[in-house]
Amino acid sequence: MISLDEALGHVLDGCAPLAPASLPLDQVGGCVLAESVVAAEAVPPFANSAMDGYAVRSVDVAGAEPGRPVRLRVVATVLAGQPAGVPLSEGEAVRLMTGAPVPPGADAVVMVERSTIDGDHVLLDDPVASGRNVRPAGDDIAAGQQVLDAGTVLTAAHLGVLASVGVRGPLVVPRPSVGVLSTGDELVDAERELRPGEIRESNRPTLVAALRGFGIDATDLGTVPDDADRIRGAVVEAAGRFDAVVTSGGVSMGDVDLVKVVLGEIADMRWMQVAIRPAKPFAFGVRDGTPIFGLPGNPVSSLVSLSVLALPGLRARAGRPDLHLPRVPARLTGPVDVHGDRTAFLRVSVRWDGTGFEASPVGAQGSHQLAATAGANGLAVIDGGSTLAAGHEVTVALMRDPFGP
Ligand code: AMP
Ligand code: MG
Repeated sequence: MISLDEALGHVLDGCAPLAPASLPLDQVGGCVLAESVVAAEAVPPFANSAMDGYAVRSVDVAGAEPGRPVRLRVVATVLAGQPAGVPLSEGEAVRLMTGAPVPPGADAVVMVERSTIDGDHVLLDDPVASGRNVRPAGDDIAAGQQVLDAGTVLTAAHLGVLASVGVRGPLVVPRPSVGVLSTGDELVDAERELRPGEIRESNRPTLVAALRGFGIDATDLGTVPDDADRIRGAVVEAAGRFDAVVTSGGVSMGDVDLVKVVLGEIADMRWMQVAIRPAKPFAFGVRDGTPIFGLPGNPVSSLVSLSVLALPGLRARAGRPDLHLPRVPARLTGPVDVHGDRTAFLRVSVRWDGTGFEASPVGAQGSHQLAATAGANGLAVIDGGSTLAAGHEVTVALMRDPFGP
């Protein structure tokens, strides 16, 4: 057996980042920016109003008082999207909508709520400080400013920043595409009754959805029987089409565990027994630069293996600095016993109790018991041979947002 870190080392050695490409904004959420972005334009591009109101010269209203308003002539109305129009002269105001350019000569905007209209004049009861309710050009981003650094993992707001400076096709490391296939003569997809010895295929929907949840483009490639030629054909084709391949089943010690045999022939392959529970057997191969992750077939094992071994490799492929599931400290709600010498990834339900996270093991922890795992949102990482009391603080790798559904 080898440690998880050693296994991860082999994975990361075989997972080079994809070549950067310029992609449309609606495809780059979660991608890593491959070059720094310098704003060619200021944001906002011109001084504009933060309020619906009146652009004024602050000196004109310096003497205003409640009951003794200053009376200004409204010379124009400017909506957002219109040019600024004529400069403002003494005794004049321009009616502005939020986002409309502030005309030259004006240095403040009085909000409409503090004004009274009187024909083509406006009465203002209060003085206003110079600059009030005016958003100067470049107040958010100056032209020439470096707004985003290379290596930034693009969030929703980053996409907005790129759009605001006119960048429509940033250079990013593309999201890896992954082909997912399962192997096993016993597996049935079709809506028909099971024959003796058969079970229903359940790993592909799990793995495809988990990958998509991690922001990876997953494609379901179906189930392949336990036949070396069929497995070879399917994996070779998938490795040619996708940036990575994920298979399930066929990597342990059984007579028809042929995925590891095939990977040994067609790829630079390492077959590992990793000191974790679940998900001990794991095969990893690289064929012409394309990583192939041979996950074990047991449903819980395949999901854990995907989360702790394949995901870091796929994130490395995506150029991500953060390879692993995020981890939080959490207090156990009950005692936990981990036998043996393998590190356990105990499936737990993590919730915020107002002061910190607490983690409750979800019950059945067998590697074939997916129903209990479905209630988990985290994996408590616990050394083999540990006997822990309720209240003990453990580290939990989050599979999902603990504040989400
Ligand atoms: P294997 O890793 O191929 O030896 O499979 C280990 C166990 O997981 C066996 O009981 C298989 O029947 C089961 N299994 C393998 N693949 C799947 C799958 N895609 N869906 C559900 N169970 C599976
Ligand atoms: Mg099998």
